[in-house]
Amino acid sequence: MIIKDDVLISFIRKAQQEIMELPPIPTNRKTLIVFEGLDGSGKSTQVKLLHKLLKKVVPNTVVSRWNSSQRISDIIKELKNKKDLKPQTWALLEAADLYERLRNEIIPTLNNNGIVLCDRYYYTPLIRGYIRGLNPKWILDLYKYAPKPDVIFYFKIDPNISISRVLKRSKEITLSDIWDIKDAIKFYESGQDLNLHDNPLTNFYIFQKKMCDLYDKIFNIIKNKVFTIDATQDINKIYEQILDYLRENKILGKLKKFKDITYHEEFPKGSLRAKDGEKIIMPCSYGFIPNTIGEDLMELDVLVGDNENSDLVLKIYHTNKKGEFKEVKYAIGFNSIDDAIRCYDTIYPNRDIKYKIIDWNTFKKEINENKNDPKTKFIENLINISTNEYNSK
Ligand code: ADP
Repeated sequence: MIIKDDVLISFIRKAQQEIMELPPIPTNRKTLIVFEGLDGSGKSTQVKLLHKLLKKVVPNTVVSRWNSSQRISDIIKELKNKKDLKPQTWALLEAADLYERLRNEIIPTLNNNGIVLCDRYYYTPLIRGYIRGLNPKWILDLYKYAPKPDVIFYFKIDPNISISRVLKRSKEITLSDIWDIKDAIKFYESGQDLNLHDNPLTNFYIFQKKMCDLYDKIFNIIKNKVFTIDATQDINKIYEQILDYLRENKILGKLKKFKDITYHEEFPKGSLRAKDGEKIIMPCSYGFIPNTIGEDLMELDVLVGDNENSDLVLKIYHTNKKGEFKEVKYAIGFNSIDDAIRCYDTIYPNRDIKYKIIDWNTFKKEINENKNDPKTKFIENLINISTNEYNSK
């Protein structure tokens, strides 16, 4: 098969044009979740676990894998089998694959209040292409119409460990006594086309090491989007860390009624909350009021006590550790001002607490004044998911 670069370029341009014509993706939710890391770092394992869980909360959750678009992936496979892939053609094919998935799967899902879990995104072809001598600016330019991920889970691992996992995985898959290392490490994925070393395993190591260094470099530049995971930890621990992150960022949770309002509970009373490297046991329920917008451009947060008969509301002027005002948080359902302050102080220790007492009706009026209409449906989809389910594998 002969595939010309200019045919691929016009395919990509057409897909980019079509993407531009799609409705804009709502920006106020973190729903494009990317997993990056070396082969064997454990990405697919976590994607599978998370997909199973998230589907229960947001049925419209999909996994998008690298080289999986119908039209392009077969061409890539064929050229790979023939060991006849030029770096530039390969880069174009990979971009075409992603645009095909963006157009048919990723963007429609995001526009439809869904969640997309991407097992690798354009960072992989960026790094691999760069190692194969392509200009990184040229590669990035191919992806300029691809939406930016909301979060990147970077599975950081020493290549020695990831390679040993790849070898083990291949033994598990083949289930054969006659197992050949050449079958376990794929020609292109292990960088054998680059002739880095005569021994394919050493070649693989050198290639992985280069990738690892570049991942570190790139993700250090865009670090506010990246959640680095120590991928040598056990599967359950990594899963818990990912869930903690998603809860912190308001992807997981459940809707709860309290008196005549509905709030989205992120942390039930008694649950563990990891913040700034420390874990606290939540002294009360904590969450936010859906479809509102506070000073931090996120929803209004609430600390919720146990007493549904209490009309007391503390309007707390929440500050950061430096004492700068950040946003208003409301404390509702507490028996007394002291109770409310004690809970707030447990969650946010050592801060000057400035607050105002308001009554229930004023509180409701203030919520209504801050009504926003973002991804209402998304929130509505977050139906009851119990804390137990977070822990179930
Ligand atoms: P990737 O998708 O990054 O290539 P996989 O999820 O396929 O990695 O994992 C590679 C192999 O390592 C699999 O056999 C998997 O069962 C195993 N594995 C995944 N995560 C871990 C982990 N945290 N600890 C040990 N082994 C793991």
